[in-house]
Amino acid sequence: MTTTDSTPSPNFIRNIVAEDVRVNKNEGRVHTRFPPEPNGYLHIGHAKSICLNFGLAAEFKGLCNLRFDDTNPTKEEVEYVEAILSDLRWLGFDWGDRLFYTSDYFEQLCEYAVRLIKDGKAYVCSLSAEETREYRGTLTKPGKDSPYRTRSVEENLDLFQGMRSGEFEDGSHVLRAKIDMASPNLNMRDPTIYRIRKVAHHRTDDKWCIYPMYDFSHCLSDSIERITHSICTLEFEDNRPLYDWVLDELNLDCHPQQIEFARLNLSYTVLSKRKLLGLVEEGLVNGWEDPRMPTISGIRRRGYTPESIRNFCDRIGVAKRDSVVDMALLEHCVREDLNKRTPRVMGVLRPLRVVIDNYPEDQVEELEAINSPEDPGMGTRKVPFSRVLYVERDDFREDPPKKFFRLGPGREVRLRYAYYVTCVSVVKDEQTGEVIELHCTYDPETRGGWSEDGRKVRGTLHWVSASHSLEAEVRLYDRLFEKANPGGEKGRADFKTSLNPNSLETLTSCRIEPSLAGAAPGSRYQFERLGYFCVDSVDVSDERLVFNRTVTLRDSWAKIEKQQK
Ligand code: ATP
Ligand code: MG
Repeated sequence: MTTTDSTPSPNFIRNIVAEDVRVNKNEGRVHTRFPPEPNGYLHIGHAKSICLNFGLAAEFKGLCNLRFDDTNPTKEEVEYVEAILSDLRWLGFDWGDRLFYTSDYFEQLCEYAVRLIKDGKAYVCSLSAEETREYRGTLTKPGKDSPYRTRSVEENLDLFQGMRSGEFEDGSHVLRAKIDMASPNLNMRDPTIYRIRKVAHHRTDDKWCIYPMYDFSHCLSDSIERITHSICTLEFEDNRPLYDWVLDELNLDCHPQQIEFARLNLSYTVLSKRKLLGLVEEGLVNGWEDPRMPTISGIRRRGYTPESIRNFCDRIGVAKRDSVVDMALLEHCVREDLNKRTPRVMGVLRPLRVVIDNYPEDQVEELEAINSPEDPGMGTRKVPFSRVLYVERDDFREDPPKKFFRLGPGREVRLRYAYYVTCVSVVKDEQTGEVIELHCTYDPETRGGWSEDGRKVRGTLHWVSASHSLEAEVRLYDRLFEKANPGGEKGRADFKTSLNPNSLETLTSCRIEPSLAGAAPGSRYQFERLGYFCVDSVDVSDERLVFNRTVTLRDSWAKIEKQQK
């Protein structure tokens, strides 16, 4: 089953929103937001949330805001803000003029905090971090009231003002909501809503030395922006009572509805900014944009299309139960898209020289090749054929096993779009015994790769003309992790121990057909029989092209899907 961008699949959140629209809740408005924290690059898990939030807004003729949730200056950077903006644009989403930052609301959030203090709903607590932990209790043991819980409104106002004006050191005081230390929900045991952090912020610089906590700032930012549906991942389910408490206590007229869904987990990779940052910082990958990374920028550099990612997000659906999606489905989605849109070309990854003994020395023929069997509109091109060619080293076996239908001594095969050729002798390196050259004869009656006499050959090989082809570097990728679940069952295993040491193979003396000269960074091709490749957009040189293999041609998804059923 394929679905297109314009017809999102139904899911429980869409049903809730549709019903709200039907009963004219929020005057029929739908207003969502995507709230990334700029502490890392976006990954494919974020794409699920992005497609959901922007998709709902589009479907119900509403709006979706982009809001940077920038309340933790120690971990956030402008580099991340810029990367997130460019990834979102590339994915094809538009927030119009609604780009916001939680830091835009710092003044207003502070006023809300003062209101809670005045209403006796918040107090300055001066317990140490360790004492606070002790007082909080556990899931089975109720917490204890902080001795500072009974401070007067005046004292709280005074201390909070002192926190704001920088009179106190980090960690000496926090502002806490006064809720219930015996609540079975730990989030409700007087959570911290403001803390001191004498750290400059990437937008507000050193204007602030107190910063609001997520649970306080998020619901209020949603309300300030008049969001209707605040969609987040399941781990926030237990924070929902606090989300509602803050908005109710402040008696705000706009009270968005928080709805949780299961985050995307993908096999053979990790989807956590913290873990991905670890890989980057320890140099275990070549930055956030490494094509092996599950980041949007890595996947983009690898050659994925935005359409294939959106289609993937639609197919995985939105549910309330955690699950792990097979990487094979993501690969299936990109193959399906690239199959339709990419031109076919010939390139040889590990070249083996072939001399066609009976082909005239200086003759060159321009043979016609079809650009795409999927799309005749893509036309044809000419590929040069000459006496010396390269074929794939793997396509020759001196002692061919059963079912090996490619070249071997005395065997005849078809060279795609060219001729039937027969291997007549083999040249070996005297020292190593390695095959370094093949001698073949060609049948001039088989031009174009077809025999008039109906003679059949089992194998069709790709090839390039030695003197006409261009040198290229090709990077082949395998899974970043050897284990399907690198984090272990509970996500507690050291995920780095299951890194795949062979996830990158760089081939530096590949040969590609001359039509690829000047191929633009980011352009995508199917190399016949080898997979889909994309010209690298980071390592760009005039000397030679660098290609990333996006994905091989072999699709394992149908089989996996069958097994799952
Ligand atoms: P991470 O766990 O990778 O650090 P995060 O949740 O801390 O992610 P945010 O920048 O806060 O990252 O996420 C922005 C939005 O994207 C949030 O609404 C979050 O719920 C959502 N999101 C993050 N990871 C996933 C995921 N794997 N699947 C679906 N949505 C996700
Ligand atoms: Mg987060």
